Amino acid sequence: MPVEEQKFFGRMMDFEEIYGADIAGKCPHCDRDTRFISASMPSPFPSMGGSSPPATFYGQRIFTEVQSVSLGASQCFLCKGLIVWLKSGDRNQGPLTSMRIWPIGKERSVPELVPPAVAQVYKRSSRLLDFDNGACAAFARTCLEKLLDDQKVKKGPNLATRITTFLESHKLPGELHLNLDKLREMGNFIHLNESFVTGDVLEISPEEAGWALDILADLFEELYVRPKEQQERRLAFDAKQIETTRNIAGS
Ligand SMILES: [Zn+2]
Repeated sequence: MPVEEQKFFGRMMDFEEIYGADIAGKCPHCDRDTRFISASMPSPFPSMGGSSPPATFYGQRIFTEVQSVSLGASQCFLCKGLIVWLKSGDRNQGPLTSMRIWPIGKERSVPELVPPAVAQVYKRSSRLLDFDNGACAAFARTCLEKLLDDQKVKKGPNLATRITTFLESHKLPGELHLNLDKLREMGNFIHLNESFVTGDVLEISPEEAGWALDILADLFEELYVRPKEQQERRLAFDAKQIETTRNIAGS
């Protein structure tokens, strides 16, 4: 499997690869495309004390004979917001789980023009990003369904069919069209709800879940924000034309 695919489907994602120093990405604080820079952290754990400490603390890592937990941190170059992630796992086999622990429950902003039912689910999904990516993707999926409802896309046998119908009827700009098409192909995303019912555990990487949120944000811009902006420009132009005509007629 190519390295890029491995990053999306399969192995555990180390947040060092997403938020580590010198990596470009979206800031979980300010939502902007940024570059992360190193953050110096003081010792995160207090001294355990006692003559026979139950655990050993070294640098940003704490471990016993069987378990190990370590912290990593960086900051956003633009807003200086701190990002902290945690890796935990078996002492000998290496890290088994990884999650972002700061910022926690940080909502992504949604333009006011987006219908409340859509915006609400989007915010809920974004609060779970990097913390519970399966749940984050499940809410992102629900958000997309609500958006398709709002766009009057007829109900189909499944979400993939609805996306296809939507793609065929809307002139989305090239990149967004391709991205939404990819989302349709993303098996995990499409079958998420069904899998929750059957109890299967799905591995959704933070990148995959984050990308789904990015695509939704692009759809908000394209379907709700841009049409309104263009309409306002036309109205302003028309008003100016009327004014000019009036002035000519009056002179
Ligand atoms: Zn930032």
